[in-house]
Amino acid sequence: MSSNQKIYEGKAKILYTTDDPEILLTYFKDDATAFNAQKKGTITGKGKINCTISSYIFKLLEAQSIPTHFIDCPASDKMRVQRVTILPIEVIVRNIAAGSLCRQTGLTEGTILKFPLVEYCYKNDSLQDPLLTRDRLLLLELATPEQLEQIRTFAVKINDILINFFNQCQITLVDFKIEFGLDKHKNLILADEISPDSCRLWDQSQTDPNQRVMDKDRFRRDLGNVETAYQQVLERILAHKG
Ligand code: C5P
Repeated sequence: MSSNQKIYEGKAKILYTTDDPEILLTYFKDDATAFNAQKKGTITGKGKINCTISSYIFKLLEAQSIPTHFIDCPASDKMRVQRVTILPIEVIVRNIAAGSLCRQTGLTEGTILKFPLVEYCYKNDSLQDPLLTRDRLLLLELATPEQLEQIRTFAVKINDILINFFNQCQITLVDFKIEFGLDKHKNLILADEISPDSCRLWDQSQTDPNQRVMDKDRFRRDLGNVETAYQQVLERILAHKG
């Protein structure tokens, strides 16, 4: 396969082929979307920040035996990744009530959950990424029961690692979304990205519900200072002494 052919363009990233058919190049864009792309904008510098944060986190997770698609970063907004087939499931893990959990259940934002809530949404824009039950997920054959079990185990472990890591950065991990893919041997691999676009992160030094937001909710809710918040997450991560 010839290199640098665009094979997919998503809302925040573009995927290119490389000389190696098993390796793809991800370019992280500054574009931001919310509410199923009804709201669009640009967050200057976001591509580089998210690529750098994601690679840091993927390395951290790899070191703790979570297989990820990360290979390396040839530039600050480009990540070489292992080619996988992405499962059409958004796996969401929540520690504190926010966002759609509050809208759908009536829980008050900020309620600490009694246990980490693992949820699955169907990654399908035309259906607006609906929440799935386990049986719906199996009915649609989006994953096998064994894969689902492994996804859950990985998701809980990733949550434990990330809660601890972000705590050391004085950041509370409210919730996050991850995606998994299958490699050519059908091994389950963590893919996509983990960044302020895909996590809710609250600054532990702030109590004000708007001021504490360090993630894409600043863009979604027009809170301003989006670039500064993303930059601060990056700076705290890079200053982190593990
Ligand atoms: O909107 P909701 O409360 O369901 O989002 C839960 C978490 O998943 C948030 O951290 C949000 O940023 C992330 N998410 C995402 N991409 C989506 C939906 C949610 O990164 N398409």
